[in-house]
Amino acid sequence: MPVHVSCHCGKIALTLDAEPAEAIECNCSMCRRKGSILFGTSKDKLKVRADPEAVGTYTFHKHVIQHHFCKTCGCSPYAEGEVNGTPMAMVNLRCAEDVDLDSLKIMKFDGANYL
Ligand SMILES: [Zn+2]
Repeated sequence: MPVHVSCHCGKIALTLDAEPAEAIECNCSMCRRKGSILFGTSKDKLKVRADPEAVGTYTFHKHVIQHHFCKTCGCSPYAEGEVNGTPMAMVNLRCAEDVDLDSLKIMKFDGANYL
C-alpha cells in the first residue's frame, strides 16, 4: 500500500511506494531541530505533487542534500540527494498520518559526524 505524505496545508503531497518498517533518527544540526523521522528510498519510489513555486529548498554544509519545505506552512516532508550517483529521497514519516510511528524500528544515525 502506498503511503501518503503531505505538508500541513497540503500544497506538497507525496506518494511513497513502500511500506516503511524502519526509520532513521539523525542527530545532524538540521534533523535535531526538526525532529524528523526519516525513511530513505530511491527517488523513483516517490511521486511529488506540488507547484514548484510552493516548495522551498535549503542546503547546508556540503550542499549535497536538498531539504525541501512548504513555503506556506513550513513543514518539511522530504529531502533529495544522490548516493553513488543514484537519486535518493528521504521522507519525513512525521508527515505521513497513516504511519504508526510507534510501530517503526528506529535506527539512530550519527549525522552530526558524517554529514
Ligand atoms: Zn504546506
